[in-house]
Amino acid sequence: MTNPAQQPALLRLPSDQEASGRTLGFEEITKLTEAIDSGCLTSTKGNFVKSFETGFAKAVGAKHGYACASGTAAIHCAIAAINPEPGDEIVTTSITDMGALTPIIYQGAIPVFADVDPNTYNVTARTIEAALSERTKAIIVTHLFGNPCEMAEIMALANARNIPVIEDCAQSFLTSYDDAYVGTFGAIGCFSLQQGKHITTGEGGVCVTNDDALARRIFLFINKAWGYGDANPDHYFLALNYRMSELQGAVAFAQLPKLQGVVDSRIRGANELTRRISGLKGIETPAMSSRAIHTYWKYCLRVDGRVIPGGAVALAKMLKERGIMSAPRYIQKPAFACEVFREQRTFGNSRFPFNLARPEAVNYDRNKFPGTYEALEGVLVLPWNERYTQQHIDYIADALETAVAKLTEAPAAATV
Ligand SMILES: *Cc1c(COP(=O)(O)O)cnc(C)c1O
Repeated sequence: MTNPAQQPALLRLPSDQEASGRTLGFEEITKLTEAIDSGCLTSTKGNFVKSFETGFAKAVGAKHGYACASGTAAIHCAIAAINPEPGDEIVTTSITDMGALTPIIYQGAIPVFADVDPNTYNVTARTIEAALSERTKAIIVTHLFGNPCEMAEIMALANARNIPVIEDCAQSFLTSYDDAYVGTFGAIGCFSLQQGKHITTGEGGVCVTNDDALARRIFLFINKAWGYGDANPDHYFLALNYRMSELQGAVAFAQLPKLQGVVDSRIRGANELTRRISGLKGIETPAMSSRAIHTYWKYCLRVDGRVIPGGAVALAKMLKERGIMSAPRYIQKPAFACEVFREQRTFGNSRFPFNLARPEAVNYDRNKFPGTYEALEGVLVLPWNERYTQQHIDYIADALETAVAKLTEAPAAATV
C-alpha cells in the first residue's frame, strides 16, 4: 500500500467558484459603489451596461454588443433575432450546455444534433452538413472549452447555403481563428458571464453582431420588444425582459479590462502543462487547428482506455486523491439523451415543437453519433483558471505522471 510519507503534501488549487480562482476585487467594488451611489440600477437609464456593451463589442471586433441576463438568454436572443417559423430546424451540437439548447425549443424550432470530431469535441463542416435539411433555418456552433471550430470550412458551407451561423462563445472569450476573434465569423456571437466563465458577473450574457437589423432585433428582444427612443414606441413582437442590471453592468465593466490578462494567463499555464505532459503514455494534450488560438476555459485530456486501464474514470479517481477534481465525460451523456429531448417534455402535453418535427430530425440513434460517444468516453476535463501558478501546474503535471505510471504498470508489479 501507499505509504503516506512518500506522498508530497496536498496543494489546494485555485477554484473559479471562489475568490482564489477569480479576478475580482477593488475595481469591481469601486464601480459597484458608483452604481449604487447613482441610485439607478436599471440599464434602461444607467450607463454601466451601455459602456460594457460598447467596450465588449470593441474588444472582440464586432459592431454591436448587447448585454443580457445569461448565456442562455444570449442564445435565446440570437435565435429570436433570426426568427424561425415553428418547426424550422436549427442544427447544433450534441456536446454543449443545456442553456444553448432549450432556447431553440422556446422559439418553436427543432434542435437537430450534429456529431462532433472526437479529437476536438467540436462540430465540423462535415458533421453539420450531414444534419442539414430543407428546413434548416440556422446553425449554432459551440467553440467548446475555448478551442475554436474550423470556421473557414463551416462558413464556406453555411454561406453556400445561405444559412446564418450563431457562434456560442460562452467558453471562448478572445479565442481566435486566423486573425479574428470567434463571435465575429457568423451572424451573431453569444457569450456567458456565468460564475465559471473567463470573466463573470455571477450570471450574465452578451450578444455581438455586425448586422444592424439583427442588432435591432436583439436589442428589442432583451427589452420586451419595446421601441425605446422611437417616435411612437410599442411592444412590436413577442419578447421577454432579458436585461442585465446596472449592478452586473458595473462588475462587467470592471472585468473587461482584465479579460486579456485572464486569457493570456490561462494560455501560458496551459502551454506549460502541455510541455510537461506531452509524451505521457495514453494521454493526448488538447488538439487544435494551426489556425487557432485556444483560450482554455478548461484543459482537456484525451485518455486512451486501451493504454490506461480504466481510462478517464480511473485517472480522475487518482487525481481526486491528490485534490484535483477533474470531470471524466464532461457532460455525462450526449445532450440529446436528456429527458427533455428523449421524452419531448415541453409545453403541457403538446410536445410542441417536436410534434412538428421530421422523424429523422429527432432520431437520436447512437450510430449517428460515433464521434460524440468516442469524445465523451475519452475526455477528462481538468479545472482551469487564470490564477494557476507554475507551482500549481507542476503539481498537476506530477500528479498526472504518477497516476499514469501507477495505472499502466504491469499487474505483477502493482501488487507490491
Ligand atoms: C455556460 C454556457 C452556456 C449558458 O450560459 P449561462 O450563462 O449559464 O446561461 C451556453 N453555452 C455554453 C457552451 C456554455 O458553456
